Amino acid sequence: MAAIELRGLTKVYPGGVKALDALDLAVPDGEFFALLGPSGCGKTTLLRTIAGLETATGGSVVIGGRDVTGVQPGGRDVAMVFQDYALFPHMDVTDNIAYPLRIKKVARSARQEKAAEVGARLGLEHLMDRRPGQLSGGQQQRVALARVMATQAQAYLFDEPLSNLDARLRLEARTFLKKLQRELGVTTVFVTHDQAEALAMADRMAVMEAGHIRQIGTPAEVFQRPANTFVAGFIGSTPMNLLDGTVRGDTLEVAGCKVALPAAGPSDGEQVVYGVRPEYMSYSAEPVEGALGGKVVIVENLGASHLVTLDVNDVTVQVVVPEGSEPAIGDDGYALPRRDRALVYRDGELV
Ligand code: ATP
Repeated sequence: MAAIELRGLTKVYPGGVKALDALDLAVPDGEFFALLGPSGCGKTTLLRTIAGLETATGGSVVIGGRDVTGVQPGGRDVAMVFQDYALFPHMDVTDNIAYPLRIKKVARSARQEKAAEVGARLGLEHLMDRRPGQLSGGQQQRVALARVMATQAQAYLFDEPLSNLDARLRLEARTFLKKLQRELGVTTVFVTHDQAEALAMADRMAVMEAGHIRQIGTPAEVFQRPANTFVAGFIGSTPMNLLDGTVRGDTLEVAGCKVALPAAGPSDGEQVVYGVRPEYMSYSAEPVEGALGGKVVIVENLGASHLVTLDVNDVTVQVVVPEGSEPAIGDDGYALPRRDRALVYRDGELV
């Protein structure tokens, strides 16, 4: 087990794409850390640079206190699970799991014993003689994970290991992987473009944009207090309402309505962005002071609740309404933000 530290890490690909831009990151020993961000933001490059599969153009990678920037992948003592599992089709499950031990010249009997032990831990004991082609996607994924765990590295690196699974298996695998990481306590960096996955699994997470880290925090911090409008717009299964506002004393004028100013700092007359999640507003059919009032234009069923879209003086505002109290299209509706959950952004940054 070991902490991972990245200092000023930069990667410019031949051709000039700057995939990582002087990035700093510290993942403490034993942490389960998720890297999240839109396609092309540099997540895979970051993981591959930690593993040594890409050479950094600048900065350094430190694992367990040792600077490994110039060290070959084999000398870094990290194990990586790839998106496509990269299993050997001609080997059975035992040999696939034991492969890294064979490379390390571990004796055959010891290899097989270790493969059996790790395989059992991952519920593969009845599949050890099968080849990858005779396994389901979820089983193949577990073999790939078992192979990584058999190596007992200082750190694990996972690149979207759940991306090939169907929705239900994916949920199961999430819980399973999190439990396993807890038990093993091995520092793990996990790349995903699925925010629900990052929020559910990570101890802490980073949100990346174009080679930069835009926020690092616990899932709760990132969800409740996004540090900037990029993260605010990116995180959340229903996106946060981000509305232009003007400061008027201790209130904000937003979409022709007056709401409470949630943070001190911005001065009178200043233009800001007001942010509030649809989950953090209460809905009323009657006018309420401090609410955003308009006409209901869309009602979407979310299962146990409804997402109601209001047209507030030509500005779109979304609010989550509990089952049973949803309005009809064309009704007047009022969304009252929770003051302790509303946010103000100035020049894109949280005040
Ligand atoms: P995704 O979620 O789509 O996998 P990502 O966040 O993992 O994306 P990367 O694969 O790290 O992003 O790519 C970051 C940037 O670097 C992108 O602009 C990509 O086009 C570019 N890139 C990646 N690999 C190479 C390469 N071998 N040569 C040149 N450019 C590359």
